[in-house]
Amino acid sequence: MIKLIDTHAHLDQVENIEQALSQAQAAGVEAIVAVGIDHNSNVKNLQIKKKAQQSEQQPKIFVALGIHPESLKDAGLQDVKEPLNFIKENLNNAVAVGEIGLDFWYSWAKKSDEKKKLQKDVFQAQLNLAKESGKPVVIHSRGAWRECLDLAKDAGVKRAVFHWYSGPLDVLDEILTCGYLISATPALGLSPQHREAIGHARIEDLLIETDCPVFYREGEGGFRSTPKDVFKTLKFYGQLKNISEEKAAGIFCENSRKFFDIS
Ligand SMILES: [Zn+2]
Repeated sequence: MIKLIDTHAHLDQVENIEQALSQAQAAGVEAIVAVGIDHNSNVKNLQIKKKAQQSEQQPKIFVALGIHPESLKDAGLQDVKEPLNFIKENLNNAVAVGEIGLDFWYSWAKKSDEKKKLQKDVFQAQLNLAKESGKPVVIHSRGAWRECLDLAKDAGVKRAVFHWYSGPLDVLDEILTCGYLISATPALGLSPQHREAIGHARIEDLLIETDCPVFYREGEGGFRSTPKDVFKTLKFYGQLKNISEEKAAGIFCENSRKFFDIS
C-alpha cells in the first residue's frame, strides 16, 4: 500500500473529523499536519492532536500554529498580541509555524496600505518566532509572492514551504535557490498556474497536501476535500510528470519528514 503524508490540512474545519480520519487511514495516509489560521483553530488542532495521541489513533497528527492573513480582516495589532503569545508558548507541541503570510488578493487588503502593513507586521512577528525556535514555516503567499519571499529571507528563516504555489516562475526560481519548498494541492487537476509552478520544480523541492476542507472544482462537479484526497494530488502529479505514483510518494514522504523533522 502506498503511504502519504497530508502536509497541510485544516482539520479543525473538517466537518466529520472521525470519518475523515478513518477514511484517511484506510486510504494510506500515515500522518497529517494540521495547520492553524487563528487562535481558535490553533487551540482546536492541539486538542485534536492530543486526542489522537491518547488513543494511539492513526494517522499520526502533527500541528502547525499560526495566524493566517485572512484572520486579520477585522483585527488590529492589539488583537493578535495574546494569540501570538499562545503560539510562542505552545511551539514545543508543534512542528511548524503556519499558516502565516500575506494575501494581497483580498479586496480588503488590496487597496489598503494600513491592512497590508498589519499583515506584514504579523507575518514578521511569526517569522521571528520560527527563527528563534528553529521551526519551519508554512507560507500563504497569494498575490504577494515576492513580498513573502523577501520577508522570509530577511528574517533568516531556514526552512519554508510556499503552500499551493501558483505565482510567477522567476520568484519561484528564487524560492528554490534559497532552499525553500513549494507544495501541491488537488488544484493540480485544474489550475494552469499551479500546474506550471509544480511542473517547474524538482520533486525534491515539493510537498503534497490537500488544504482541506477546500472545495475543488472538477469538470462539471467537484468535491469537498478531506486528508484522503492527498492521493488525488499524488495522482495528478504522476500524470503531470509521468512518474509512478509509488516512486513519487516515497520521495514526498521523505521530503515531508525532513522538512517537519518528524519520524
Ligand atoms: Zn491552508
